[in-house]
Amino acid sequence: MSQLTSLTLKAALAGLADKSFSSEELTQAHVDAVAAAKPLNAFVLETPEKALDMARAADARRARGEAGALEGAPLGIKDLFCTEGVRSTACSNILGNFVPTYESTVTANLWRDGAVMLGKLNMDEFAMGSSNESSAFGPVVNPWRAEGQNAKLTPGGSSGGSATAVAADLCLGATATDTGGSIRQPAAFTGTVGIKPTYGRCSRWGVVAFASSLDQAGPIAKTVEDAAILLKSMSGHDAKDSTSLDIEVPDFPSFVGKSVKGLRIGIPKEYRVDGMPAEIDELWEKGIAWLKDAGCEIVEVSLPHTKYALPAYYIVAPAEASSNLARYDGMRYGLRVEGANLTETYVNTRAAGFGTEVKRRILIGTYVLSAGYYDAYYVKALKVRRRIADDFDQAFQKVDALLTPTAPSAAFGLGENADDPVAMYLNDIFTVTVNLAGLPGMSIPAGVDHKGLPLGLQLIGKALDEGTLFSLGGALEKAADFRAKPARWW
Ligand code: GLN
Repeated sequence: MSQLTSLTLKAALAGLADKSFSSEELTQAHVDAVAAAKPLNAFVLETPEKALDMARAADARRARGEAGALEGAPLGIKDLFCTEGVRSTACSNILGNFVPTYESTVTANLWRDGAVMLGKLNMDEFAMGSSNESSAFGPVVNPWRAEGQNAKLTPGGSSGGSATAVAADLCLGATATDTGGSIRQPAAFTGTVGIKPTYGRCSRWGVVAFASSLDQAGPIAKTVEDAAILLKSMSGHDAKDSTSLDIEVPDFPSFVGKSVKGLRIGIPKEYRVDGMPAEIDELWEKGIAWLKDAGCEIVEVSLPHTKYALPAYYIVAPAEASSNLARYDGMRYGLRVEGANLTETYVNTRAAGFGTEVKRRILIGTYVLSAGYYDAYYVKALKVRRRIADDFDQAFQKVDALLTPTAPSAAFGLGENADDPVAMYLNDIFTVTVNLAGLPGMSIPAGVDHKGLPLGLQLIGKALDEGTLFSLGGALEKAADFRAKPARWW
């Protein structure tokens, strides 16, 4: 059993293809692993019966010679994705026991290709957070611990359940979403691979909206190749999302292992921030050396508006969130707390249903959009956003991709930043720029810090050039040879 759960997605698909084991056996092993991992709190809903039904159906299809690209592979699904007939809450009390009558396009694509659903994964409420502590279901615990210590660490957020489930071998891969870093930062904190594709690559239909102009789905996986396999299935045009791109999906896995010789890699000098641990800088230098060894040319570049990215993000994202979350009024679905009149019912429902961080975002978002402040904050932030995108355009005249750290620290303790929203927001310093510009970004596990905790490096690509990121990610993965696994304590 433990052997089946320690396989990569790629190896598991090969084992299913050559009949070393069935999907039912593979799925049962993962169902058992999930059931035994309660202390991690990675799943908010386990669907073992559904998983085994899907596995048996996958085995039958394979026997008929109709196997899809993910046939029989058990996956975890972030609770932000609506799943037909299966409770979907965005980890908010306001959605209560909401059971969608429809399936998100991304998950539908995975099922079309034969994947199996193990259940729904924990996350920050409405994907707002960097530590998975704002979830209505309580925090997720990182399977990694600092050497010789028992303190519980955050897996990052908002896709903390996805990252933990993959790192702890509870699933072969997971869906996640990234509005300002929620795929990449948890991947970095847990020694996993995460890619946020170009905006528009994956359909947002059926994904609970946070900030629609920034939200993008992507996978968290054990290896770069696994991430490529998953992203290929998840991507594709969808008429139900007007921002979905009507272009062909490249064969992402074929880019992994390709030579990166001659590629020019930009190192943005503005990503060297004060107070960043020396270890992160050292790892970055190592990454530069690895890519040089692989034949890349290293070029220093400047992204001068980087320092405005975090403030701009924390205006644009809450503004869109305040508008998107207006729909939770207790009238149509989810929680409803009756009041003496309509207004009181709205107020009671929203007061009881939203958590503190979500309320903070709604307040900030409503403020920056209000008459008198709209031009000073929201419009200004949109202008900064344009400048940030221009910075990247300029840099990409000279280079093929950029290399940066993913996050300014390793995983921190649960509760450590909980009372200080600004300290929490600073976690996103290297990731939000990519969302503001709509570009693809990938985090690759590249080493451990002095406490034995994983650290990630980020690759940023040109729009629609995920292929180059998969080639570079594969080269970094090979050079870093990151094999450490968290010691099992749960
Ligand atoms: N940590 C960021 C935030 O809280 C990003 C979240 C995300 O990407 N969903 O907004």
